[in-house]
Amino acid sequence: MSKMPVYMDNNATTRTDPRVVDAMLPYFTEKYGNAASRNHPFGWHAEEAVETARGQIAAIIGASAKEIIFTSGATESNNLAIKGVAAMYKKKGNHIVTQATEHKAVLDTCKRLERDGFQVTYLPVDKYGQVHAEQVREALTEKTVLVSIMAANNEIGSLLPIKDIGRLCKEKGVLFHTDAVQAVGKVPLDVEAMGIDLLSLTAHKIYGPKGIGALYVRKKDPRVRLEPQIDGGGHERGMRSGTLPVPLIVGLGTACDIAKNEMGEEVARTFALRERLRNGIMSKLPESYLNGHPTERLPGNANISFAYVEGEGLMMGIKDVAVSSGSACTSASLEPSYVLRALGVGDELAHSSIRFGIGRFNTEAEVDFVVELVTREVTRLREMSPLYEMVQAGIDLKSIEWAGH
Ligand SMILES: *Cc1c(COP(=O)(O)O)cnc(C)c1O
Repeated sequence: MSKMPVYMDNNATTRTDPRVVDAMLPYFTEKYGNAASRNHPFGWHAEEAVETARGQIAAIIGASAKEIIFTSGATESNNLAIKGVAAMYKKKGNHIVTQATEHKAVLDTCKRLERDGFQVTYLPVDKYGQVHAEQVREALTEKTVLVSIMAANNEIGSLLPIKDIGRLCKEKGVLFHTDAVQAVGKVPLDVEAMGIDLLSLTAHKIYGPKGIGALYVRKKDPRVRLEPQIDGGGHERGMRSGTLPVPLIVGLGTACDIAKNEMGEEVARTFALRERLRNGIMSKLPESYLNGHPTERLPGNANISFAYVEGEGLMMGIKDVAVSSGSACTSASLEPSYVLRALGVGDELAHSSIRFGIGRFNTEAEVDFVVELVTREVTRLREMSPLYEMVQAGIDLKSIEWAGH
């Protein structure tokens, strides 16, 4: 086996592709100009690199370069999209529609707006973690200024029907924002065909550097206006001031270019590895459950719950693989994942769930190692579990009256 632990947490972040690093390097040491410096070649070279990157980013979502605004990442893009629309269109209305399993960068932004007098509808998801256009339609009111629904969920990998929702929003004349962080490079995206007005993305989930992201802001039909959240020199059409981090921008552009060119092949490869992992684990372990949609999901994501094992013990047992758990035990709270809870997954199963995120650099040998490791550890933990013993003996746990703790 190569390096330990095996990295399989690609929905949290990704290794920067060495090709991306190579493209960035000259912009630290040789071409270090400020892209806003108009008076010398250092500035011109920087500006040229920024405009090339803008085009590369636009190309992966079917936008035009002028519609791309650089930010520090998707957290900022989501904040700018939602708060920017809320402040700009507040005379028109004060209602926003979103859904329960959005990233915290969307949910907490909406919560802050609620404190400022906005009304937010958080649509429930079905058992696969999906919301449907009809739900959005029913939630819209005269006061709705924005619908924000993610393209793919970061925990369970489910894809959301953003094309249906985007078209509905177009029909109703309501702005549509999508957090497409997890979908970029994995699912074809086209802001025109999908009726998207605002789209958030970030480099570090697509083999680019951390600390750089973008917001697509539609320029016509309709022209979307945003109240800036950061004031200053008036960069980025006035929507986001601050000196542009040229090396990071070159990294994001290169990451998008590679993702676009290699998407077909990469999706096929990561999907095959994901299926190998999922079938390997689930065929050997009874009472293991896939969370999220069985087929409408990100190619590299498998989120699996294991009944009758304790989450913390499992994470300790499989520490040779870097994954995330559905249990937030690492933080101060013992709350299970709000995403799994929104799907209706019980607390026990949520605590013993593992998110496997397969990416560009994972190999078949790594997948086989992880299948072995997880199967062995879950089996070992179950052998120690009195509950599992009872189930094996045919006792219906629901029939038992437990003493209170
Ligand atoms: C990672 C992630 C974000 C946050 O992106 P940053 O660039 O780390 O701020 C937002 N939304 C989703 C769906 C994510 O997976």
